Amino acid sequence: MKRVTPHPASNNTQRRAFLRSGGLLLTVLTTGTALASRQARANDGLLSQASVHYQKMPHDGQQCSNCAYFIPGKTATDTGSCRLVSGTIYPDGWCVRFSS
Ligand code: SF4
Repeated sequence: MKRVTPHPASNNTQRRAFLRSGGLLLTVLTTGTALASRQARANDGLLSQASVHYQKMPHDGQQCSNCAYFIPGKTATDTGSCRLVSGTIYPDGWCVRFSS
């Protein structure tokens, strides 16, 4: 059986080009993931309302006042806060992290 040996110079050039493109791809992926993570967290370290699709109205019978993460305000109708989500939270609000 005849063995085919690639030209060493062209093989090195192809290898370098491949490694360069792989490095660039890795850099793009790492940067994108870091940005997405930063956008999901508000300044207080909690999840941003946008990242959990928070809304000020109930969803399919679920609402913040019935959620395990809700911290009520002074009265049942006052706004409160949330152990997971940043900002003012309405008792009638809802987000995708709802937990009964
Ligand atoms: S996790 Fe979502 S549904 Fe539950 S209290 Fe927080 S904002 Fe409301």
